Amino acid sequence: MALIQANNITKSYRMGEQEVPALKGLTFEIGEGAFAAFVGPSGSGKSTLLNLIGCLDHPSSGTLRVNGVDVSSLSRSAAATFRGENLGFVFQDFNLVPVLSAYENIEYPLLMVRGWSEAKRRERVNQMIAAVGMTEQAHKRPDQLSGGQKQRVAVARALVGQPKLVLADEPTANLDHDTAYKVLNLMKAMRDDFGTSFIFSTHDPKIMHEAEQTFTLEDGRLTAGATA
Ligand code: ADP
Ligand code: MG
Repeated sequence: MALIQANNITKSYRMGEQEVPALKGLTFEIGEGAFAAFVGPSGSGKSTLLNLIGCLDHPSSGTLRVNGVDVSSLSRSAAATFRGENLGFVFQDFNLVPVLSAYENIEYPLLMVRGWSEAKRRERVNQMIAAVGMTEQAHKRPDQLSGGQKQRVAVARALVGQPKLVLADEPTANLDHDTAYKVLNLMKAMRDDFGTSFIFSTHDPKIMHEAEQTFTLEDGRLTAGATA
């Protein structure tokens, strides 16, 4: 079973009287264990597509299956449950809670999960902190961390609930090249170690070569899909 199956999906935004077509009929598949990238210039539809896969918005038409579930028309609460059980997110600007330590930021999603003892939570958070190489910085707040370190914490936070798939919208856009490569290689190592699939977006042609599978978007259309 493919992890993502998109069949002729479109998305238009309504702007007053006008319909803005952002995605114009995309059909593609992404398999389990993927390390895939959506690539394209600003405005090509990358964020729109990631938002659909992330069940943050619905396609205007077409069908989209994520992990075997048709997410094309999930209700808001069903989408929230689906996200909680299947998905993790990493953001361009890290989105860490400024008043919480690295440890507490990573622990945060687990506080929403019922039935975890404190000991089980601590074990899981410590495992994730170690996996991203941030054990020594666990007590530091985001303003005491570099950009690369913040994104490591964000990767650990995305993975702490053991999602099937992590979606990362331009996760390296605020990082220098060297740090960007390191963060992507960390993500790939996490895929290898935990089996979590990753889909990220980038407008940077250099970064896209780190992906094993790339889908090129231009003006809301897929112009190329390739498997490395
Ligand atoms: P990218 O992430 O590749 O920069 P986006 O998915 O953000 O592209 O945008 C694709 C197109 O959809 C652009 O023309 C953009 O202006 C438009 N768009 C994105 N979000 C909205 C929105 N909330 N309302 C109206 N138009 C939008
Ligand atoms: Mg975008």
